[in-house]
Amino acid sequence: MDLSKYIKDVPDFPKEGIIFKDICPLLNDPAAVDYAATLFAEAVQDKNITKVVGIESRGFLLGILIAQKLGVGFIPIRKPGKLPGEVLSKSYALEYGEDCLEMQSDCLTAEDNVLLHDDVLATGGTAKAACELIETTGANVAQVSFLMELKFLKGSEKLHKRSIHSLLEY
Ligand code: AMP
Repeated sequence: MDLSKYIKDVPDFPKEGIIFKDICPLLNDPAAVDYAATLFAEAVQDKNITKVVGIESRGFLLGILIAQKLGVGFIPIRKPGKLPGEVLSKSYALEYGEDCLEMQSDCLTAEDNVLLHDDVLATGGTAKAACELIETTGANVAQVSFLMELKFLKGSEKLHKRSIHSLLEY
């Protein structure tokens, strides 16, 4: 199955000059969703994954399905102020300004082997901050998976030696 057929390019969204990669056509096709989730799960079959962590919000969509296929728990990384209880926070730089990610502090331990998932790897700032948040618990980021990687933005360089798996590259 050619998954690229289910990704729609939307020029100048959410602002001029950005080509937004819309995954809604993929989400609207159950066979394509199942195929993508299966590919992600198969790619980590030998990595002894204990948790899948998804980044708000599009990382939740397939992240939960991958966790189900692997038979492990799913943990959301969210924008500030959304998660109850004690949270770990990580700030990171944007092109203009700063953003922050949060994760509940009791959901991972040093024994965990994590698959981190998001829809798009662009500049890599979000995924890098998410890796660092996970690693403050002592857990290992065994693999970082994306539906697609925008190669020209060189986001993989920010993730250094972490293992990256993308189903599509642009
Ligand atoms: P970055 O931190 O630059 O790697 O941005 C990653 C986040 O922004 C991901 O969570 C994506 O959902 C979103 N994103 C960045 N660029 C795009 C794009 N061209 N199309 C869709 N989503 C994008």
